[in-house]
Amino acid sequence: MKHELLIDQLEQRHSLSSEGYEQLISRRTPEVAAELARRARVECERVYGDAVYTRGLIEFTNYCKNNCLYCGIRRGNASCRRYRLTHEQIMACVEEGYDLGFRTFVLQGGEDSETTDEWLCDIISAIKGAHPDCAVTLSVGERSTESYRMLRKAGADRYLLRHETANREHYRKLHPRSMSYENRMRCLRDLRAAGFTVGVGFMVGSPFQTSADLAADLKFIEDFSPEMCGIGPYVPHHATPFAQFPGGTVELTCFLLSLIRLIKPTILLPATTALGTIDAAGREKGILAGANVVMPNLSPADVRVDYELYDNKVHAGDVAAECKEDLEARMESIGRRLVVDRGDPK
Ligand code: SAM
Repeated sequence: MKHELLIDQLEQRHSLSSEGYEQLISRRTPEVAAELARRARVECERVYGDAVYTRGLIEFTNYCKNNCLYCGIRRGNASCRRYRLTHEQIMACVEEGYDLGFRTFVLQGGEDSETTDEWLCDIISAIKGAHPDCAVTLSVGERSTESYRMLRKAGADRYLLRHETANREHYRKLHPRSMSYENRMRCLRDLRAAGFTVGVGFMVGSPFQTSADLAADLKFIEDFSPEMCGIGPYVPHHATPFAQFPGGTVELTCFLLSLIRLIKPTILLPATTALGTIDAAGREKGILAGANVVMPNLSPADVRVDYELYDNKVHAGDVAAECKEDLEARMESIGRRLVVDRGDPK
């Protein structure tokens, strides 16, 4: 089928066959990408107008029991300088963020054994108690069914858990045997059942990834219909087993952002830090391809450098929450407006 027909079909039905996605991805041209981005922007503006939502990202621990082969904070990276923020330090980040106009806080971290349910519930209650008008998003990995229920009960609103890949074989190539695709999917189902607003996602250009894998990711997004989806380019980290693999591109990431926007027009879709890392204008390009969320970093400046998921991760300039004015100016330059809002899905 011709590309124009596939795009028409996606726009109208919010769905394509796996083969349709694969064809669009593997035979994309700059002209097709531009047309797809234009339609994705129209859809995004129809739902969200010119608003771009912000989330204050607090990377509160880089201890991790997992050994994902791509990740710089993997357990096996002995050169990683480990840190863990205290309850008080996190609350100080929240206060600073609130004053800067953030109304969603994302608590993200490695899978740290010290991040107990009790400790997390306590911090969630403290944030919600101090700022009932704010949303709390968690991104703390795989946990038990009961744990997710408790965290939701304590007041957490949203949960980000990238599925990483919708192909079981590919999942196995990216992770150690101690982790499984089945458990990742179990977690996502449990999060939904617990009442969270759920986010999935994957890296673009991860080692061994094929167009068919990406098509499977898009079919998964169609089927699971998450409220949020985080995608960003894979960026190599020098101290991981995948150090020698090439990174993903801004171009393919933007193409996929456009496809995801057309699959689910209401989805909350961030232009990620990884995109801003490999291209100084990456986040603007992401927004122009259909993204509508940015997540500046609110972590204390002295630990930002240690949350090193990949090489050269940007942590200064307008990815820093305190430089929100720069980000505002960048968004205005592309006709968008950063809003003071929880930024719930429509
Ligand atoms: N531990 C939590 C989890 O597993 O969801 C949250 C932290 S984890 C480091 C957050 C995300 O970082 C992962 O889902 C992964 O997609 C992304 N990530 C890790 N290493 C990366 C790399 N080298 N390049 C790009 N993204 C990476």
